[in-house]
Amino acid sequence: MIHSIVADVHLPAGMAGPEEMTFDVRCFLLSHASGVTLVDTALNNGAELITQKLAEIGADWGDVTDVILTHNHPDHIGCLHEVTARAPGASIWAGVHDIFPVAVKGAEDGATIRGLRVIATPGHTAGHLSLLATDDHALLAGDLVGTRNGSLTRAPEQFTADPVEAERSLHMLSTIDFHDLYPSHGAPSHRQALQDLIRQP
Ligand SMILES: [Zn+2]
Repeated sequence: MIHSIVADVHLPAGMAGPEEMTFDVRCFLLSHASGVTLVDTALNNGAELITQKLAEIGADWGDVTDVILTHNHPDHIGCLHEVTARAPGASIWAGVHDIFPVAVKGAEDGATIRGLRVIATPGHTAGHLSLLATDDHALLAGDLVGTRNGSLTRAPEQFTADPVEAERSLHMLSTIDFHDLYPSHGAPSHRQALQDLIRQP
């Protein structure tokens, strides 16, 4: 089962365009046989939200065995230092082509970490990862896609390092077998929406 933790991001006018922007960013908790895996660490204030969600599912920081980072943007690794302090025993995993402020273990394409298959999906960042939760038939797609106003969209180009490579990764993901799609921004979606998206330029 995938538990979403939702935080609001507010960008003042001038930071990512002329208008002020509000959107959500999500990180995820997944239980496994010997504990809990955390995917991404949200914003600076994320640790409290993660603490609350751990309590809701009957766990605490001591149960966090692994932290997997989809990519190194600040809205996905905001409270990483606090997470490593609260869960000192957890292994921190990430793509080898992104640089992080803490030491991480390289999550190789094709590896499986606590039931999550690592899929290298470069483009948004060079080391961007997606994760396939095989038992849940769900794909955690990081920032390759997001949901805005009810529709699945590509990540905004100004935040994407290599849009051509991101597009290649999107096409590759659409060939993988899953049902539910969890972007890091916006509500969950499904595989069909991804297949519809890649047909639109
Ligand atoms: Zn990002």
